[in-house]
Amino acid sequence: MFKETTSANPPILAPGILATAETCVETRTRQETASVLFVDQSGQLGGAEFSLMPLAATWDARREVLLLSDGPFRERLESLGVPVSLACEASVSGIRKDTLRLHWLGALPGIVRQVRAIARHAEHFDILFLNTQKALVLGALGKPLHRKPIVWHLHDIMSSEHFGPLQRFVVRWLTRHAVDHVIANSRASADSLVALARCAPENVPVVHNGVDLDEFRCESAPDMAGLRGQFGLPENVYLAGLFGRLAPWKGQHIALEALARVPDLHLVLVGSALFGEQEYVKSLHAQAARLGVQDRLIFAGFRDDMPAWMKAVDVILHTSTEPEPFGRVIIEGMAAGRPVIAAAAGGVTEILRHRTNGWLVPPRDVTALADAIEVLRAAPEMANRLAAQALDDVAQRFSVGAYLDQMKRVIAGTSG
Ligand code: UDP
Repeated sequence: MFKETTSANPPILAPGILATAETCVETRTRQETASVLFVDQSGQLGGAEFSLMPLAATWDARREVLLLSDGPFRERLESLGVPVSLACEASVSGIRKDTLRLHWLGALPGIVRQVRAIARHAEHFDILFLNTQKALVLGALGKPLHRKPIVWHLHDIMSSEHFGPLQRFVVRWLTRHAVDHVIANSRASADSLVALARCAPENVPVVHNGVDLDEFRCESAPDMAGLRGQFGLPENVYLAGLFGRLAPWKGQHIALEALARVPDLHLVLVGSALFGEQEYVKSLHAQAARLGVQDRLIFAGFRDDMPAWMKAVDVILHTSTEPEPFGRVIIEGMAAGRPVIAAAAGGVTEILRHRTNGWLVPPRDVTALADAIEVLRAAPEMANRLAAQALDDVAQRFSVGAYLDQMKRVIAGTSG
């Protein structure tokens, strides 16, 4: 499917890039008629699911989301009026990307059933849109059965830090032989696939995620003191927030180390262990006790009202230890009008510019993180200036409208 080459960078689609009069008419017509089956492996809510939600909700023609696990994602989709069906197999759900070796052999009957179930569903649609790694493997393996064009939305950096050799081999093979179109969520993700599958960069367009600015503006929300009171957060303290699932590579332990180094700083961790990282959660509690920071640390759990939680903090931290494929929480923090300090790797560097619309620190560097927090706390005017620029940038480059336009153009181009 893909030409082999290792040349220049893949294109980042800007709003309007395909919008000549001719292509507009052509894509709109196709867009309205092409029916799409979206497939996602997770019932939980992560960045990939939040980016699929508005796409499935606003797709003009017939569409359905097929989930390979049940959970709150199904409820959210249904509340938006999106038809959802389930094809769950516990043995397949149990396969984790970091433990994928020969474990999958025991899950083989379940894998075959899911491949068939996806293919059966896909027969009734024009396009099969695969939103996650497992969806890619199971949906693409069934291509001889369904014969539908496949669009894969890549939300991962396909490096050996994130994926084992078997997974990388399978993805490389499927990219070359079964996938018709890939859309990457960042240049970092796109580059990693181009390197892995040696495909042509122009075949892996980049569409950055977008956020609903109105939702994050939340003008009706109370002021910061009111929000803190409502959430039981400490008032009259300098409060940092780290938003995202609790997982070792998200680096909450780095934030705890920084908390111990910055006097009087308080920290709230918003998010939970979505994929069984209970040991890590335990280790965070033990680390907090060892560092003596429990009275300045709050575990808030998974929250649905991110805009309000983000507005309730003074500064937003991002501490991933590995390159982040994109990092929705960063554009959300920018949209909430809060200064963001982030680990400079992967997609993050496509969003933030150091000292212009945020503050970048090397990943895993506790000293740099603690220093950055001190600098922004001591210079609130500068922090406000960064946050204001970030808000402008997010409106210009990361709006949900621009994201949907670009995604729909690429998908519509698939069915022709
Ligand atoms: N999120 C949420 N509630 C929480 C924690 C996270 O709604 O308690 C959302 C967050 O707002 C963001 C997504 O989960 O939209 C995480 O996306 P990101 O790309 O940052 O990370 P991923 O989990 O996909 O690696």
